[in-house]
Amino acid sequence: MKRKTKIIATLGPSCDNEKSIEKLISAGVNVFRINLSHISTEAIEKYIKMIQKTREKMHKPISIMVDTRGPEVRVCSFLNNKVNLKKGQKFSLVSNDVQGDNAKVQITQPICIENAKIGGTILANDGRLKLKIIDKKQNQLICKVCSSGELSNNKSLSFVNQHFDFEYLNENDKKDLKQALELGVEYISASFVNSKKDIDALKKFVYDYDKNIKIIAKIESKEGINNLDEIVPNCEGVMVARGDLGVEASFEKLPIYQRKIINTTKKYSKISIVATEMLESMITSIRPTRAEISDVSKAVFDGAGAVMLSGETAVGNNPVLCIKTMTKILKEAESEFDYYKTFNNMIKNPKTSNDLIIQSAVNASFFLNVKAIFTYTSKGSNALKFSTKFAKVPIVAIADNVKTYNSLAIMCNCIPVLNKKEDDIFNQATKISLQNKIAQKGDLIIVTTGTTDKISNVLKFVKI
Ligand code: PEP
Repeated sequence: MKRKTKIIATLGPSCDNEKSIEKLISAGVNVFRINLSHISTEAIEKYIKMIQKTREKMHKPISIMVDTRGPEVRVCSFLNNKVNLKKGQKFSLVSNDVQGDNAKVQITQPICIENAKIGGTILANDGRLKLKIIDKKQNQLICKVCSSGELSNNKSLSFVNQHFDFEYLNENDKKDLKQALELGVEYISASFVNSKKDIDALKKFVYDYDKNIKIIAKIESKEGINNLDEIVPNCEGVMVARGDLGVEASFEKLPIYQRKIINTTKKYSKISIVATEMLESMITSIRPTRAEISDVSKAVFDGAGAVMLSGETAVGNNPVLCIKTMTKILKEAESEFDYYKTFNNMIKNPKTSNDLIIQSAVNASFFLNVKAIFTYTSKGSNALKFSTKFAKVPIVAIADNVKTYNSLAIMCNCIPVLNKKEDDIFNQATKISLQNKIAQKGDLIIVTTGTTDKISNVLKFVKI
């Protein structure tokens, strides 16, 4: 059986050349993430062009996702890229433009230095390092290091229980997003989305450059969790950004939040991504830990549509091995997943012919020996609805333009095909089935279509 859960790989120094991208695509990557927090403006163009060139050369649908810095607080850079801080030493966070060293580092949001409270706690590097604010001077927060640890360029900082009023989009994000959108990407993963207001602010800016850009909201705070019902319907999907969420919220709550976020995406038929530390030990090891294997499987059992690798592919020793390992674990978990039960639990009374066609097609595929369900799409919206219904058979989404074709790659259980809609769509679906080895002569497929992308009103069983 073909893998349904899609794999997102973060691009970084371990794989930022065409050969490596090609190998990663061959190993099974569906989406490349470019993390704007970690790369220069020049590198953004290089990365995007490399992926575009490689996917075209390989004739493969691949989504490109740029991940914003968001209104989060990060350290800037160190003279030697990182420092090792010792328990008990003093370390300052400053707002002036200096290279970091063992005594100080510049941070991205000066407003925190003005407003942070003495006595407050700061967690750095996804909570691995703890600082206590002991004094304040102009442009400087003097801290005591509470636990020894490493701090490297661009790592995030979390000011525990302190709230600052940040603009949702900073000038650096605006500049980089403009560039990425002009070059052509399919997704923006928006860091630290806390409410619909944040999504609105992002849309207001990005729609000037690309009206069809798809937004994935990264949920990484308790506020984001509390506002899921206003966030999820207003974007294409969400990411369980466990790195920052595990610092902002109590870490023992993470598995519960993960399930809650995924359940909300099921309710609104949206993309769901589980991210961070999925195969972390494989940055250096050739095998995942037992806990990582269980964690990846849990994402499938919770109903996630995609999983993401960060450091594993960006800076790890063997990015290709990580993709192969991830694929093995996902396929095994999928073989145990009860698709019918999950689909059945989600069924609602249909409100439109479209809902009825989608539900009926998926329902029929569980009982009749159907090999695939076909849908035509020009913007991807119907493909997304099909892809989030937990069908056991693949959803073949036929896109009439390259942009949508590549955007379909992230969608769970979706096989993207690039083709103009022909007059005889049933014959076209038959040809595509045979060419792509989706079905053989004598097999049954379901073909759905409609008058516009959003409205399906035809369902036909076609015998090949
Ligand atoms: C996360 O916090 O889990 C995450 C995916 O975001 P970033 O990699 O930008 O920290």
